[in-house]
Amino acid sequence: MKTFNTDRIAAKSYSTTLLARRWLTEKVFEIELTRPSSFQFTPGQRIRFSPETRQRDYSLLTTPSDSTLGLCLFNVEKGQFSPVLAAAEIGTKFSFTGPHGYFTYRPSARPAVFVATGTGIAPFLSISRSGVTEFTLLHGVGTASDLHYQDFLRSTARLYVPCLSASPDQAGTIENGFDGRVTHYLKEYFPPDTYDFYLCGRQEMIRDVTLLVDERFPGSLVYAETFF
Ligand SMILES: Cc1cc2nc3c(=O)[nH]c(=O)nc-3n(C[C@H](O)[C@H](O)[C@H](O)COP(=O)(O)OP(=O)(O)OC[C@H]3O[C@@H](n4cnc5c(N)ncnc54)[C@H](O)[C@@H]3O)c2cc1C
Repeated sequence: MKTFNTDRIAAKSYSTTLLARRWLTEKVFEIELTRPSSFQFTPGQRIRFSPETRQRDYSLLTTPSDSTLGLCLFNVEKGQFSPVLAAAEIGTKFSFTGPHGYFTYRPSARPAVFVATGTGIAPFLSISRSGVTEFTLLHGVGTASDLHYQDFLRSTARLYVPCLSASPDQAGTIENGFDGRVTHYLKEYFPPDTYDFYLCGRQEMIRDVTLLVDERFPGSLVYAETFF
């Protein structure tokens, strides 16, 4: 099993303008930004804002053929930067660097298994919108209302499994739903084989799935993008 660390090249700096914001739930929103004419990226990559002391990275939702850039953010209560993007007026200018990262799709003979928690779904949106279809997607969220983009993802994925962990007995309310975390599903229900795993979201999920891959899916590759 291999894990790739994805951040190695210096990227260019660009200026962008906030064009629109759309709330998907009370805490999660999408923003649309102008795309600088020379900015190129590969689906799965991200951009980086550098407010004051720390850097904040966000995976692109959109595809290289789209004319604007899209991000999907969780608005962290008392967070330093996500509330800035949640409240900024349309027309506000920002600078960012990019593209960053190597969390990109690499076709192989092994079946691809995408595993996301929360807004970790973002790079998989860009990848699948760009034409990748032969994948299984496990999306770990609290409740079904957090399954953003599920209609598109259901229509694109070979298998789409929403894993709902906030409370028991939710799965029956949603097609192919599973009550529990993505790790539980992989451990108990996912057939042992050799896969390419793409993991994106919380570090606990990435650690737990990586350990599970060693136990249950030996010979598989793991690509990971840790959000927090
Ligand atoms: C490679 C990479 C890609 C990322 N892509 C995205 C993305 O596409 N969308 C996105 O929303 N965030 C993404 N993040 C997280 C993002 O960079 C910021 O850390 C996040 O917006 C919080 O920043 P903040 O200043 O508002 O909060 P801070 O003041 O830095 O507070 C940090 C705390 O916020 C919480 N938190 C951070 N990110 C999330 C999240 N996504 N969902 C729920 N809680 C969170 C955690 O508890 C964390 O400890 C990514 C991070 C990395 C490293």
